[in-house]
Amino acid sequence: MASVTLKEVSKSFGAFDVLRSIDLDVEDGEFVVFVGPSGCGKSTLLRVIAGLVPVSQGIVSIDGEEVTDVPASKRGVAFVFQSYALYPHMNVARNISFALETARMTKAEIGRRLAKVADMLKIGHLLDRKPKQLSGGQRQRVAIGRALVSQPKLFLFDEPLSNLDADLRMEMRFEIAKLHTEVGATMIYVTHDQTEAMTLADRIVILNHGRIEQVGTPRELYDHPANKFVAGFLGSPRMNFAPARSDERGRVITGPDGFELSIDQLRAQKPTTLGLRPEALEIVSPDKSGCIKGIFERVEDLGYEQIAYIRLSEDTIWTVRSGGVIPAYASGSRIGLRWKPEDIYLFNDKDQRIETRSTLEPAIVGISR
Ligand code: ATP
Repeated sequence: MASVTLKEVSKSFGAFDVLRSIDLDVEDGEFVVFVGPSGCGKSTLLRVIAGLVPVSQGIVSIDGEEVTDVPASKRGVAFVFQSYALYPHMNVARNISFALETARMTKAEIGRRLAKVADMLKIGHLLDRKPKQLSGGQRQRVAIGRALVSQPKLFLFDEPLSNLDADLRMEMRFEIAKLHTEVGATMIYVTHDQTEAMTLADRIVILNHGRIEQVGTPRELYDHPANKFVAGFLGSPRMNFAPARSDERGRVITGPDGFELSIDQLRAQKPTTLGLRPEALEIVSPDKSGCIKGIFERVEDLGYEQIAYIRLSEDTIWTVRSGGVIPAYASGSRIGLRWKPEDIYLFNDKDQRIETRSTLEPAIVGISR
């Protein structure tokens, strides 16, 4: 097992800054997931930790030892890629044990480790097959087996499941989580799939344009996003946003026709955006008091949940998510939307979240239009 520390790590390719002053501590035995939009630098950061990409600036330490200039092969890490990178001419057993052979390990020890890994990943019946005779999920198991067999202190995964179909992804996600519990090694995992991030991570690192936006447990990030980017990134459908402004009396005015929330404590804080998650919204009759009005566009029925699209203005459509049944209003019907005051998120002109949740409820004096 190993801890990882990054201090002011930056990486540029020519004039292009891919990583900008990254500080991060990964604890011994932790499962940390890097997420962020395409091109934000997730894979580069993982490769910096592996030693596959040299840093432009900063310090990388593994287990308290600086390894910034130590080659990948000497860092004691194992890397599992999206492309399984198996040797096509070798069977599964040799693919897994090859690195041990080159390290001149005894046949008995290689056999013992191979049997243990094959058992753990349930691939004992595949050991004589070549990679082309395996399914995508089986190939990924072999790639993980090859990483496991060298008993590394640190596992690095770069989108290992993205070539698999939905069912297999779920199965492998479960296997990787189980593996983490069984071997107890530190794991760092890159994905653009927020379900993987939310379900696998002890802590998630959200990256954007080469910077860390926020680090925290999945629940912390979902409930207490530090800024509008994190609030919009986690959650599917994403958080609904509307521009807001506040007046001198502390009222927040938002919505296409200017509905008002009066929040005393915000007088000094000047929110410019309001956010509400789709699951925080309830569709009600437009005649109900304390609701905003919109036009019902359509509903998507996914079986286990329904997503309704509500038009608030020419260019604002909000989504409503419900585990129950949303009545099938005719497209174009006028409806009302309601929420609990504590579900409101507010952001300032720098897109930082204004902490309001704990005190918001008693402070709201009314919603009007
Ligand atoms: P994705 O989710 O699409 O895989 P990512 O967040 O993993 O993206 P990276 O692969 O780390 O992103 O790449 C970050 C940026 O750095 C991208 O704009 C990419 O084009 C650029 N980049 C990566 N490697 C190199 C390289 N060797 N030379 C030049 N630019 C590079």
